[in-house]
Amino acid sequence: MIPLDQGNFKGVSLQNMSILMVKKILRDGSPCAKCDQAEEILRKRGYWEHIDRIVYAREDASESEGMKLAEQFKIDLAPFFIVDDDPGTPRIYTRVFEFIKKELNGLSVNSAEDINSSSSESSESATLPKSRGISKPTNLPSSPFDINSAKLRYKKSDPISILHDAQLHFAEDLTLAFSGAEDVILIDMAVKNQRPFTVFCLDTGRLHEQTHAFLDAVRHYYGISIEVFTPSSELLEPFLNEKGSSSFYADGHKECCGIRKVEPLGRALKGRRAWATGMRRDQSPATRENFHHAEIDWEHRNENGRPLVKFNPLLDWSSDQVWEYIRSNGIPYNPLHDEGYRSIGCEPCTRVSRPGEHERAARWWWEEETLRECGLHIKAREEGA
Ligand code: SF4
Repeated sequence: MIPLDQGNFKGVSLQNMSILMVKKILRDGSPCAKCDQAEEILRKRGYWEHIDRIVYAREDASESEGMKLAEQFKIDLAPFFIVDDDPGTPRIYTRVFEFIKKELNGLSVNSAEDINSSSSESSESATLPKSRGISKPTNLPSSPFDINSAKLRYKKSDPISILHDAQLHFAEDLTLAFSGAEDVILIDMAVKNQRPFTVFCLDTGRLHEQTHAFLDAVRHYYGISIEVFTPSSELLEPFLNEKGSSSFYADGHKECCGIRKVEPLGRALKGRRAWATGMRRDQSPATRENFHHAEIDWEHRNENGRPLVKFNPLLDWSSDQVWEYIRSNGIPYNPLHDEGYRSIGCEPCTRVSRPGEHERAARWWWEEETLRECGLHIKAREEGA
């Protein structure tokens, strides 16, 4: 986070210069059209990778980081850009073309003519906090996703910005994995971003009835469809015939999770180019220590054989942050949480949490801590592509 109270912006520094873009979110939750136009201009001209961090100024939240920056720098237009050298005094721009000219040497890329003709557009900025532009999703050109640059930028981004970036780049080719409290936050943020996305859910056949009710509540609350994937009967029936319905207590959950979760996940991701999860690092420090906000998912590939990109926007959030978001936004959650369940999976493999124990201790509690992953979140190998 930017140390606002110091009155001096210091963002992430790449080659002695860091650039922060502040975009506005309107009172009704929709993004600012002018801000999106500016982003599109930067993307089309190949400058987007120079933006180190995006911050949102929410009209309805004076405490939002972007509104605080606007106040700090006495800005009443959006978007605006803050450029900081190391050491240096921040330079502020409220016009995207001026920003390009003065900071990004834009004239050498698309010529002065191009920039000057573009700058004849009626206005580059919207006012803060009264503007009323509503963004329409645009299908931007599908350039390759730069995973290494994204990893750097996301270290300084908030979850909604990460998700926005994913939605902007992948549109409907991005699908959100939905099952728990964290996942409904992703849906909430994706809806607020007003960008295309899809949602899927794995119905293992062993979920609590309260979880099914929760799924329906989310469907209705957001007016979205959730694609449901169930286990393949060709795999499930022989497994049940041979081992019965509770073999996981005797020989571990891997085989059952493989059939009820991992195989359906492969089908859910077919035809996609990216997916997002509500995974948090502290849910399982023993297995998630080295995860990133964006990773190459080598286990799942599209029809061209290219691996998917996996986004984990909430990776650094704590359970408290999750519940603060759910309560302050009044969004649906699984009623089992009110009965003492903290981490919820399949009914036979989930129990009520005991006081003081880690939330993950109530999942597959009969197994070693390092084995308590269902196989959906295998650590991506170090990216080389
Ligand atoms: Fe099977 Fe339990 Fe895994 Fe669900 S969580 S798929 S019931 S082993």
